[in-house]
Amino acid sequence: MENTFLKSASIINIDRKKIRRIRFLTKSTFVLTFDRDDIQFTAGQHITIGTRGSLNQREYSVYSGEQQNYLEILVKEVLDGNVSIQLRNSKPGDLLEVNGPFGSFRLEIKDMYSRKHLFIATGTGISPFHSMVTSYPGIDYTILHGIRYINEAYDKHDYNPKRYITCTSKEKSSGYNGRVTDYLSDYQPEPGTIYYLCGNSSMIFEATGILRNKGVTGDRILREVYF
Ligand SMILES: Cc1cc2nc3c(=O)[nH]c(=O)nc-3n(C[C@H](O)[C@H](O)[C@H](O)COP(=O)(O)OP(=O)(O)OC[C@H]3O[C@@H](n4cnc5c(N)ncnc54)[C@H](O)[C@@H]3O)c2cc1C
Repeated sequence: MENTFLKSASIINIDRKKIRRIRFLTKSTFVLTFDRDDIQFTAGQHITIGTRGSLNQREYSVYSGEQQNYLEILVKEVLDGNVSIQLRNSKPGDLLEVNGPFGSFRLEIKDMYSRKHLFIATGTGISPFHSMVTSYPGIDYTILHGIRYINEAYDKHDYNPKRYITCTSKEKSSGYNGRVTDYLSDYQPEPGTIYYLCGNSSMIFEATGILRNKGVTGDRILREVYF
């Protein structure tokens, strides 16, 4: 069922989409796959989602690639949360209310293949980067993924192992041991690199300060704050 109305001078589609699959990556984090139909999005954008009949909607970055004929989101269940728990308890066949896409967090099309990209994420903040890399595997990218434990390296096999660096804060691993911001403190920016930051606001605030202090101009830092 589809309903179209005008919001902020743009056409927004509210769609009901059937859940096809729920794939758990850890006890609390899962990939939800649902029908895409005619939703067009650019890798990096987000949609809003609620369970059928619920007044609550939350934003989720699209996890799947632009070419895939389904949509996926990567969700972490938040204790005492609302929508993330409803999504965790949903089943294949249930309907979701989907809105969007929204946002300007995306690759710069004109110099996508001539620039280096440093993608900096915490937790599920890796989701837009998963979509970008799946959609455009030929781009020059490095992902810094801030996680607590190594089992939170969600779908790590989807990335070139030389381009995916985990920064674990609560256990020792073969990647970098420490927070992404510790990694950045020792990092030397390269000219022409564009920086994408996604995740919690304290990481984004701190990482932006570190990069700016190292001479990276604000126009080369793009940010998507989750909470
Ligand atoms: C543009 C955008 C894209 C987003 N994309 C994703 C995504 O791809 N995957 C995803 O899991 N979430 C994403 N989020 C966060 C998501 O929209 C919800 O805030 C989250 O799922 C919690 O919703 P809730 O209704 O369960 O909890 P609520 O009742 O809304 O919130 C409960 C509390 O949890 C905090 N919180 C929210 N997210 C987290 C978190 N990950 N860890 C710890 N505390 C948190 C909130 O600040 C609040 O204090 C995104 C947010 C934005 C703004």
